[in-house]
Amino acid sequence: MSAASRYDAIGGRRPARDGLVPEDGLKAYARDSWPQALGWSAERLATHIPAAVLLPEREEIMAAALSWAAERGVAVVPRGAGSGVLGAAVPVREGSVVLDASRLRGFELRADAPEPVVRVGAGWSGGELERRLGSLGWSLMHFPQSLEDSSVGGWIATDAWGQLSTRYGGVRAQIRGVRVAGLDGLIRAEDAGPHLGAEGTLGAVVEATLRVRPAPASRRYYSREFPALEPALDWAREAMARGGPPSVLRLYGPVDAFFNGLKRSGGLSGAGPWRSRVETLLLKRTDWLNALTPLLGHAWIAVAIYEDEEPYRDAAPPRAPGAVDLGESPARRWWQRRYHLSKQRLERTFAAGGFVDTADFRAPLSLMPRLDAAVRAALRPHALAFSHLSHFEAGGDACLSVTFAGLGGGERHARAWAAALEAGAAAGARVNHHHGIGLGKLAWAGNAWGEARLAAWRAEKHARDPFGLLNPGKICP
Ligand SMILES: Cc1cc2nc3c(=O)[nH]c(=O)nc-3n(C[C@H](O)[C@H](O)[C@H](O)COP(=O)(O)OP(=O)(O)OC[C@H]3O[C@@H](n4cnc5c(N)ncnc54)[C@H](O)[C@@H]3O)c2cc1C
Repeated sequence: MSAASRYDAIGGRRPARDGLVPEDGLKAYARDSWPQALGWSAERLATHIPAAVLLPEREEIMAAALSWAAERGVAVVPRGAGSGVLGAAVPVREGSVVLDASRLRGFELRADAPEPVVRVGAGWSGGELERRLGSLGWSLMHFPQSLEDSSVGGWIATDAWGQLSTRYGGVRAQIRGVRVAGLDGLIRAEDAGPHLGAEGTLGAVVEATLRVRPAPASRRYYSREFPALEPALDWAREAMARGGPPSVLRLYGPVDAFFNGLKRSGGLSGAGPWRSRVETLLLKRTDWLNALTPLLGHAWIAVAIYEDEEPYRDAAPPRAPGAVDLGESPARRWWQRRYHLSKQRLERTFAAGGFVDTADFRAPLSLMPRLDAAVRAALRPHALAFSHLSHFEAGGDACLSVTFAGLGGGERHARAWAAALEAGAAAGARVNHHHGIGLGKLAWAGNAWGEARLAAWRAEKHARDPFGLLNPGKICP
């Protein structure tokens, strides 16, 4: 079917400014940035290529496409920028139509409101939106590492968390409302709640209202080295309890600190193509690397970054007896390199025959030492594993991210992934923090969300999409 006739099949009409992705562009929509899918063979990839991809420029077209799909029983997959790391945007039903929201770009800043907000189309990429807001003196203060490669709609649908979340919370703390297109072809203003993390299974978000703040004028940087994780956690607890928490609070294990250039000696940092080559070479012998990692010592490095907004202007981290004060440098280096891990860098590692992935876990701080040790031990037979903690919350939970890397095909990668999740769950953690469920954690949806949240989602799903057309195969098929 030609692009034009496919358009006619979807819309029944051909508005001048709305478009369909041409046939040779459909393959790009067969996967997102799920590392396991980056390792797929051409045959496997082919089974996920959608029948068509529509790029609505207006939200009414998005709504019309949904009602068209409902009348014909066609599966639809809303999509943002495709940076999801668990396969949530991967079409699983044959004949699916992808609805790419990236052209929905409305923008209305309400700076004079008692609480300043911006109303934006779901398709804005984070980077573009920050630059537009920044030119007006405002910021969302939501900075996921994938800022340039992710969209507003995707943030909501994955319940994303940014790197400044310790102070500002995840996107759920910033959002004030959404407008959502449903299968009945209507667009409704709604509370964002049900759509946070719902992966497009309840409708297509076409617009969001988000809180904005004046961009901070200055930042203060602190770095400490602790002999082990436990004293670093005590210090982090105290920093959180002070009532003026840092915007960034992260604890890096010895190997992760080395790869991020945070150690006193610097370490392996930088993001050029040479780095991927060195890493791929090293990954040939992960057994040797795992045996050598104790040479990097056992110290954990903390970075804390404070911003100037009142009432936090004078906030600073607590004193840390027994810790080495590393000054500003490691924290500044972290800030400068905070976007170095990109989608493109992941793709280069896979193209060179390697794999690299991150399992994120939610747990109380008291569980972290046991959890970290258990997950890394489970990964050791399969990959090089290293970890850091971030996204500290006032309630006492945080996120443990365990990155693992190795060489070899999809099976080795999949075995490592399963071992990490099983060990994390057995240690008592939830197996997701901010990356969602997608396909990679489908078997773990009960653990990730808990039964009460899943039951609420099922009720919403039944009411909005009784025939399972909205992103089928996700959350809880
Ligand atoms: C290098 C790298 C770093 C990352 N760092 C972070 C990080 O710091 N924090 C973080 O939270 N995540 C991070 N991620 C993961 C990813 O960027 C987020 O999950 C992001 O929110 C996905 O947004 P997207 O626009 O790319 O969504 P997509 O990948 O396109 O889609 C994700 C899900 O959202 C649904 N969806 C997308 N748009 C809509 C819409 N308009 N309406 C309804 N449903 C929709 C899709 O159906 C899918 O289920 C990172 C990813 C990479 C590759």
